[in-house]
Amino acid sequence: MSTPCCGPSVSVGSLLTESIATLNAADISAADFEAQCIIAHVLDTRPGRLRDSMVVAAVQRRLIGHLLALRCRRMPLNYVLGNAEFMGLEFRCDSRALSPRPETELLAELLIERIGLSATGLLLDIGCGSGVLGLSVAHHVPGITVVGSDVSLAALQLFIENSRRLGLTDRAFAVSGSYLDWLSSGAASMVRFLVSNPPYVRPDDYLELQPEIVRYEPREALVSPSADGLGAYHQIATRLDEMTGLQLVGLEIGYDQSEVAQIMKQARPDMRWSVEKDYSGNPRIVLGECGG
Ligand code: GLN
Repeated sequence: MSTPCCGPSVSVGSLLTESIATLNAADISAADFEAQCIIAHVLDTRPGRLRDSMVVAAVQRRLIGHLLALRCRRMPLNYVLGNAEFMGLEFRCDSRALSPRPETELLAELLIERIGLSATGLLLDIGCGSGVLGLSVAHHVPGITVVGSDVSLAALQLFIENSRRLGLTDRAFAVSGSYLDWLSSGAASMVRFLVSNPPYVRPDDYLELQPEIVRYEPREALVSPSADGLGAYHQIATRLDEMTGLQLVGLEIGYDQSEVAQIMKQARPDMRWSVEKDYSGNPRIVLGECGG
């Protein structure tokens, strides 16, 4: 593997060619795009603003070489860059929480659309990780207060960092706990919006996932607490009847887990439950709505 990291300054054009070759040699499929992201990140610009004639100083070149080496070891691109764009917002992103997926962004979009920009109330994000889901909804819906809960203290730290970054500290709160174990009945009755991207990968399927995921992402954010992949949803369902003020539920599910809608319907037959598809046409989201 050639690592373009040493020597004097070079042009973006030649560094790009070299970097793409480095990523290609490591079988990174979007080598062109990713090389641009890494170079643009170090030059503190956006990929679309890179020009072949720009000059890259030796110290920047070394840093680019270091980041390319991390990517070649299959660290997810967002961890390499230390940030991720989600719903047009920039989140800090590292191995304390999952790197956000496009399907989760689809869930955030649907939630904002259904909740409505003028809504108020408490939104609970169970297993909030870096906070992309709950914090992006709170950013777009200014009347919302978000509580993010997670069993991982490291993830909660990242959630807090992101709430600071987005200027949401006065209406974003972090709670440590597994699923809804920590929630009192009194607090449950205050929840208006419930969102979650819980761990849903079946333990048997985990080692088949991409090396980026298995080597770098937190296992507890991915692997379901039960062999059938549905354990997290059962944990959530058992507390739904206490949420007397609930208006909307939005859950990410695995592509073959549409039965989550039935699990939820059994817990709350008074709500309308539906399954929405992702960009590949697979079931990916369960929505539950009250009233109307
Ligand atoms: N969609 C993720 C994956 O395929 C899983 C996310 C989760 O378990 N919540 O890796």
